[in-house]
Amino acid sequence: MGKRTLDLDDRLYDYLLDVSLREPEILARLRKRTLKLPEHGMQVSPEQGQFLALLVELTGARQHLEVGVFTGYSSLAVALALPADGHITALDIDPDFTAIAREFWAEAGVAEKIDLRLGPGIETLDALIADGHADSYDSAFIDADKPNYDGYFERCLQLVRPGGLIGIDNVLWSGKPADDSIRDDNTDAIRAFNLARKDDQRVTLSMVPIADGLTLAIKR
Ligand code: CA
Repeated sequence: MGKRTLDLDDRLYDYLLDVSLREPEILARLRKRTLKLPEHGMQVSPEQGQFLALLVELTGARQHLEVGVFTGYSSLAVALALPADGHITALDIDPDFTAIAREFWAEAGVAEKIDLRLGPGIETLDALIADGHADSYDSAFIDADKPNYDGYFERCLQLVRPGGLIGIDNVLWSGKPADDSIRDDNTDAIRAFNLARKDDQRVTLSMVPIADGLTLAIKR
């Protein structure tokens, strides 16, 4: 099939940022702070943060669920876009990375909007379902350990309301899923996850080649 999506070389990517990025100062500082960490590749790109914020505004989301916080860039971008009564339930397992997130949430004045829950994501999602929160979230963003993607997705599908939006990050995983010779736990998990979504009639689907690939799924 003829390729209709552009390759973004460095010059074109810089152009895209130059003419469209509106990164708030506090997000720019968080991004630079995170770049000092060896794990900085886990941070969402700034144009993706802006896209997530646009989706929040587009959908009018008030209740947002995030699986995988890291240092808080995506949750802060979303929190800044939520209305005053908006709320994020944010899940992560790492107290050190999320300490940075908490610091920036507080400085941005959105800390009261975000309920951080530390622990294994599957267990926390099961607890939310058990506590009666099924069908109560307007949107969810999954960006955590890849072997659990299927488990996270199934639970998020219960937790978002019909018509709610689920975003799943890293679905193109540096291009590895398309190379059958690459076999590792992360790539295999992403490959299986993507394949299962292709004919998943519980959702309306689009895979967006932004950053490392972002699948958008609307719960039917
Ligand atoms: Ca990611």
